[in-house]
Amino acid sequence: MAVLREPLLVAARSPRLRSVAEKSRLTRPVVDRYVAGPGEQDALATTRELAAAGMSVTLDFLGEDTTAAEQAQHTVAAYRSVLAALGEAGLAGQAEVSVKLSAIGQSLPVDGEKIALDGARDICAAAAAVGTTVTIDMEDHTTTDSTLSIVRELRVDHEWVGTVLQAYLKRTESDCRDLAYEGSRIRLCKGAYAEPESVAFTGAEVERSYQRCLDVLLGGAGYPMIATHDPVMIIAARQAIRRHGRTAGSYEFQMLHGVRPAEQRALAAQGERMRIYVPFGDEWYGYFMRRLAERPANLLLFLRSLTSK
Ligand code: FAD
Repeated sequence: MAVLREPLLVAARSPRLRSVAEKSRLTRPVVDRYVAGPGEQDALATTRELAAAGMSVTLDFLGEDTTAAEQAQHTVAAYRSVLAALGEAGLAGQAEVSVKLSAIGQSLPVDGEKIALDGARDICAAAAAVGTTVTIDMEDHTTTDSTLSIVRELRVDHEWVGTVLQAYLKRTESDCRDLAYEGSRIRLCKGAYAEPESVAFTGAEVERSYQRCLDVLLGGAGYPMIATHDPVMIIAARQAIRRHGRTAGSYEFQMLHGVRPAEQRALAAQGERMRIYVPFGDEWYGYFMRRLAERPANLLLFLRSLTSK
């Protein structure tokens, strides 16, 4: 099944397949395992449910690789709106937002980085107004330097802005050392994009890198956000937490909506801070295809839903 990872990740970037899949209503039931629903109210309802079960949330308004400035503005407006709604619903203490810079203009050919920085500043201001935080997602390796530099700029005004480091990148252990300072919020994940071997580890090396990065982040002074569903990584994290004398609340675990929900509840019940990444919106294709690449067993189900009448 591992051979399917690469083609699925290539397909995740295909505008043509994306347009066919997103227009097909039949795919929705399969997609709904991973996505709260198309609208802001769906995001709020899922947040309420998870908060009632003792978990926190990070909301992601779906979209990426935006090719038009108007689309980037639309995404910023959607984030501002959902942040205000969280505030009004009294949920801002339980939920923050996660933002992909490519969804708010980073890859636009003219002034992309500036457009993304301005948009991210607006989103951070809206988060500050209701008393919550923002985490900037990490995309493929060609954007890592740009994303880290935008995060640095954002942290000048809002030192709580967090970001993501991907253990599959060979550079990441060193990035962890640079970013393990007090006040820094770093989500550590394995990484979800198709990357060349020149920059990324493969196979078991990714897991070894993840464990080295865990050690650096948990041994440092920042706030590590341990994003994985892998039972072996969770055990390694808990050992490192003990080794470094970390107390509850000085780190958190994170998982994706719809992936290992029983384990999510179990960790929360054991007193761990558990945050669930909850996507919502119509542009689910890229996100969903990366989830299929992690779990190709779901592919058949998805293909059936595309072709059934
Ligand atoms: P895996 O070895 O992939 O999975 C371990 C086990 O978890 C599997 O055996 C299976 O039982 C279960 N599982 C994993 N994925 C699925 C699935 N899709 N469906 C069903 N079961 C599954 N990546 C980025 O590149 N940038 C980001 O900004 C980013 N943000 C993330 C935020 C959060 C909160 C999380 C949890 C992940 C994020 N990722 C991001 C994705 C991450 O990089 C991995 O691709 C993903 O988490 C799978 O790796 P894993 O550590 O869970 O291990």
